[in-house]
This record gives sequence, structure tokens and C-alpha cells, in this order.
Amino acid sequence: MIIYDSVCATFRNENSKRSLVNIMSVSQLANSIAESPTLKLNEEARVLKEKGEAVIHLGAGEPKNKAPLSAILGAAAKLNTADVKYTPTDGIPSLKKAIIKYTEENYDRIVAPENVIVSAGAKQSVYNILYSIINPQDEVIILAPYWVSYPEMVRMVYGVPVIATPEDGGFYPRMEDVMKAVSSYTKAIIVNSPNNPSGVIYPEEFIAELVEFCEKKDIYVIMDDIYHKLVFDGKKAPSAYKYTKKDVESTHVIVVNGVSKLYGMTGFRIGWAIANRKLTQIMTNVQSQITSCTAVLLQAAAEGALTGLQSAVESLRMTLENNRNVMLEELRSFDGVKTVKPDGTYYCLPDFSAYSRNSVALSEMLLKKALIVTVPGKEFGMEGHLRLSYAGSLKDVTEGVARIKWALDPNSPKEIYIGERKLVRDWL
Ligand code: PLP
Repeated sequence: MIIYDSVCATFRNENSKRSLVNIMSVSQLANSIAESPTLKLNEEARVLKEKGEAVIHLGAGEPKNKAPLSAILGAAAKLNTADVKYTPTDGIPSLKKAIIKYTEENYDRIVAPENVIVSAGAKQSVYNILYSIINPQDEVIILAPYWVSYPEMVRMVYGVPVIATPEDGGFYPRMEDVMKAVSSYTKAIIVNSPNNPSGVIYPEEFIAELVEFCEKKDIYVIMDDIYHKLVFDGKKAPSAYKYTKKDVESTHVIVVNGVSKLYGMTGFRIGWAIANRKLTQIMTNVQSQITSCTAVLLQAAAEGALTGLQSAVESLRMTLENNRNVMLEELRSFDGVKTVKPDGTYYCLPDFSAYSRNSVALSEMLLKKALIVTVPGKEFGMEGHLRLSYAGSLKDVTEGVARIKWALDPNSPKEIYIGERKLVRDWL
């Protein structure tokens, strides 16, 4: 009996040790981080397309253009040397030189190589900044609607995301909304204008007031400027640098940019941050322990893009502006859908709440019934909306909106052709 008890006890101990190991084998924080919904949708669309389904992807955050020739030639020249090695952690000097020139031309700021760090996309740049400035429980203000990755990244560095939602339900943040979100723990605010997902450019007065306020309060202003040149109707996205008299060493403004959106070079994974020397050095130390550096071939490509003919940017910008116009025109024929005209980016964020308050369910229904990928507004902190991308072809834009209309609007024709298939709407 005693032997039996002790065997049982040992078994229980082993078992409880094992279940303890199971519970503790992954980090609770890491386990709680959501998959990027946009990347998940990309994958779903890819799988459906592979199965031969005539999916239209209005969820995509990338255009269909080819990379600029100067980028390809830059990477090919480096590859031809067969000398493909580690680079300095913060980037090859010639790429940093090109970034410094870009900063001078586009921001009217002269910065030193020690203020620049090249990373694997603007995404890593934002993460590096957050990792390097946030202490546990520090708060970071995020303006809704916001890019899906910001809140998760803040949580990943043990910070607390504080979402500031415009009280009027619009897309333009106001200083009152920011002030309400500020506390003694506020360390930074992330600003993305032109904005993913709404496409709006924040007004100059807002940026000016925000920079002044944050500099007084010792709060970093992280400007995610990844779409800053992809703007329409002759508008210009205000640069935060313009509203500080401080130099790059003493300003609280940190700028993030990259080649992904500007040149449609999403797969090259090159972005950068401009910050004071101390912070840049800290980010470099952090990056040196994680990725060592970004791939030299891709850095050479980014350098090629930045130093080559800039007609690729204008041509992409014009395509996007035209696509946006067509999308707005198509959406206008929709009763009940309200759309704020995007000033830039690849996206618009129409309000579909007249059809459904549940954007996740609506997006799933559109994918299932009409084979159309959209991104639920809930992911961006704007329930009732859907993010539609006009970065694809004009045909995708027109056909995509027609399919949404077919699925939702009882006044639209009952039948539609999707590829070879005739579909009949039987739910309205
Ligand atoms: N910032 C915003 C606002 C974005 O929309 C994206 C991509 O969708 C990124 C950053 C990431 O850019 P990258 O591809 O350079 O990492």
C-alpha cells in the first residue's frame, strides 16, 4: 500500500511537473500577441488563389509595380562581386549617405550618419524605437484609426498602448483627444500621416501643436512617415521637423521611413529611423544582438532606388491617385456607405455600419460569398468600417467594389459572374 501510494505520488509529481512545463514553455506575453491580421488575410487570399478561386484582394498593402530598375541594378552589381558579407549593424555607409540626402531634400534637415539606423523594414524600425525607449508600464499613445501592429508592438516591449479615439468618430485626431490620453506614464505618441488605414493627412495645426506639447512634456513623437510622398490632389504631408526649432540631437521627434511603400519594394525589407545619436546607438546595440544587420544585397537595392531616377515614385503616386478616384466613384453608388476621401496611401476606410456593425463578420461574409478580401475596421480600432486597398489594378478596384455591392445592396442585380461562375444572391 505504502509502495502504491509513493508510486502514485511520484506519478502525480511527474505529471504536474509536465503540465507545469507545458504551461510555462511559452511566454504568456508572446502567446498573447495577435497574428498580424493583414498578413493572415494575405495568406488566406494566396491559398484561395492557389486553389483556382477568382479572389480579389482589396486587403493588400502593396502595389503591383515592379521594383525600380536602379534598385535591381544596385542589388545585381553587389551580387556579381560575390562579396556578400555582414555589413555594419546600422547599414552600409553609402545607403546611409543616400538616406541623409533624402532627409535633407524631403525634410530640410541635415543629419549625421550617427543619427541613422537601417533596419529590416519600417516595421523593425518602429519596434527598435519602442524597445529602446519604453520601460515596463510606460504608456504609448496611439491615434485611432491606427496601423494594426502598433498596439501589439507596444505590448511586446512591456509597454501599455493607450488608444486615443477622436470623440467625433472621425479620422482626424484632435489635441483634446491626445490630452485626455496623456498621463504621467506617457513616454511616446505614434503618428502615422498619411494614415493607414484612413488615408487622411493630419492637419498642419495638429502636428504643430502636438510637437510643441510633446517637447514640453518630454514625450517622444514617433513619426511613421512611410506613406509621406504618396499623396494626392497636390497635398503635402506636414513634416514634424518643421515644427521644432530643436536640432536632431535635442528634439523629441523621431522619424521612420523606408522603401517598401515609396517604391513598392515591400519584399526588400529596408526601412530606417532618424533619431538622436544616443538613441540611435542604443537601437544599433539592440539590433546587433538580434539581426546583426540587414542583408547587404537589399541595402544595395534600397540605395539604388534612392539614388536612381525618381520617376517610379511619381508613376506609383499617379496610379494610386487614379485608383483612389475610381474607388470613390464606385463607392458613391452605394446607398448607406460613407467614405472620407483619402489624401494619400494605398487605402480608404469606408463606413459600412449601415450594413453591419460587426466588421469581422462582414469581412468574413464578403470573402466567403463574394471572394473578396477586405480588412475589418475593428483591427484598426474603427468598428463598423472596412479597409479597402486600391493598390492593386484598376480592374480589381472596379470589380472588387461591384462584388461588395452585389453582396450587400439589395438594389444591385441579383446575379454576378465571378470568373466563369454565375453566382446568385439568395440572402437579400
Ligand atoms: N508603417 C505603416 C503605417 C504601414 O502601413 C506599414 C506596412 O503596411 C509599415 C509601417 C511597415 O513597413 P515595412 O514594410 O517597411 O516594414
